[in-house]
Amino acid sequence: MIDLHTHSDASDGSDSPEELVRKAAQAGISTLALTDHDTLAGLDEAEETARALGVNFIRGCELSTKAPIGEIHIVGLWTPRNLPELEEFLAEQRTNRQRRNAELLKKLNNLGLKIGWEDLPVNSGSVGRPHIARVLVEKGYCESIQDAFTNLLGKKGRAYVPHISPSPQAAIKILSAAGVTTVFAHPRLLGWQSPEISRLINELAPVGLDAIEAWHSSHNENDAKELLAIAQNFNLAVSGGSDYHGVMKPAITLGMGAAGKPVPDGALTSLTARRKAKGQPV
Ligand code: AMP
Ligand code: ZN
Ligand code: FE
Ligand code: FE
Repeated sequence: MIDLHTHSDASDGSDSPEELVRKAAQAGISTLALTDHDTLAGLDEAEETARALGVNFIRGCELSTKAPIGEIHIVGLWTPRNLPELEEFLAEQRTNRQRRNAELLKKLNNLGLKIGWEDLPVNSGSVGRPHIARVLVEKGYCESIQDAFTNLLGKKGRAYVPHISPSPQAAIKILSAAGVTTVFAHPRLLGWQSPEISRLINELAPVGLDAIEAWHSSHNENDAKELLAIAQNFNLAVSGGSDYHGVMKPAITLGMGAAGKPVPDGALTSLTARRKAKGQPV
């Protein structure tokens, strides 16, 4: 089994990087990527644990971007170490997160909900809405994380604040220049249909998009099939991952791809073939 999209508590997952890798090894996952939002902070710990447990580890991250049709997530795989341009870009995204969180807290306070910075994790360089949702549940303001998103934090929620994000083109260019493999993450999660996905990929492929995440835990069999066809059409690789977040998203299991089935090993083969063809290390 493989899983090329997971989160730790370096961003909005609930497991430490070490715990995450231990659980993956126990689940029989042979290749794992850690792809925290806007940060590489969990990668060294995860990589060290993976080495000790004999798990093949891929360093990664996930970026939120804004296209004309809406929010698009880009997963980056094989992120290099010690590259100032990439670190600076990610630090800028984290600063934008904190600006957005300040607005979110203000809106929640205006609704009479008592929540402040002291309630949010300080060790995480990348604070997101799931952290805020968790506090709202702990304080008894919401019944579940899902409820917090539906009523307050999500797009139709009363305290919604959009991301301050770069365009997908900008994110792809910066990642590609750093030798990172770029993946259009969970294209179906946010509701896009195939024609609009194809139109967007038509703009992203020329700036360096490498792959589409066809096998994702939010996709059904038909989603995966259509996304595979789009990938083939644009000569892109195909990736797959669960988007595991621990207790933040309890329904998601490590290694789960589309339609509740494991991510096929072919995802890794497809991505490594593309990297080799570009002369990039795997
Ligand atoms: P943020 O990065 O702060 O915009 O938060 C995004 C995170 O919240 C991602 O992990 C999303 O998958 C998660 N998320 C978005 N909508 C929901 C929802 N309705 N229920 C649970 N998690 C959600
Ligand atoms: Zn997340
Ligand atoms: Fe995402
Ligand atoms: Fe994710």
